[in-house]
Amino acid sequence: MPRPKTLGEWPVLPGEKLAVVEEFYPGPWTIEGDGNIYSTVTGLASIDQRRRMVLVRPLTKTPIVIEAGDVVIGKVTGVQDKMAIVSIIEVKGKRLPNPFTGALNIAESSTRYERSMMDVCRMGDFVKAKVINTRNRLPILSTIGRELGVIKAFCSKCGRELIAKSGSLHCPNCGNKEIRKISSDYGTLRRGAP
Ligand SMILES: [Zn+2]
Repeated sequence: MPRPKTLGEWPVLPGEKLAVVEEFYPGPWTIEGDGNIYSTVTGLASIDQRRRMVLVRPLTKTPIVIEAGDVVIGKVTGVQDKMAIVSIIEVKGKRLPNPFTGALNIAESSTRYERSMMDVCRMGDFVKAKVINTRNRLPILSTIGRELGVIKAFCSKCGRELIAKSGSLHCPNCGNKEIRKISSDYGTLRRGAP
């Protein structure tokens, strides 16, 4: 939501742009990146004119901030040749009130040389990943590690949930075999997850 001309509080989501750094200093629950200031939480933003500061008042009791080192769970919402976009839905075991976008680069996806992101994850898959850094407000993810990678995936041919068997994924419906960077936690995503 754009900053209203009349000052006061306005609702913001994590990752939402609040101001540019030339205008204000980043205050509590904000982060600076790319010359902009973004909210790190769901809350109400406001301007402190006296201190030339933009700040956010979190609306949740224990606001969740995504930091380097955090293990997250997300849904793959976009796959390009060398990069995937992940909609992060859970951080350190806590569900986010609103998904937060992260990116997974192919070089950080596996210790093997992966030619295509399609061999790592595909649209609609759920992945467990670690946050490498959050510079420029975009969490950069890694799936290097035994427990990291795809934890739930669906058949590209018929849409049925795939089953992990001896290092690859099999469709119980049509027999299709697929490749992913599979997590040792494959199949453990709890019921009720989106
Ligand atoms: Zn199938």
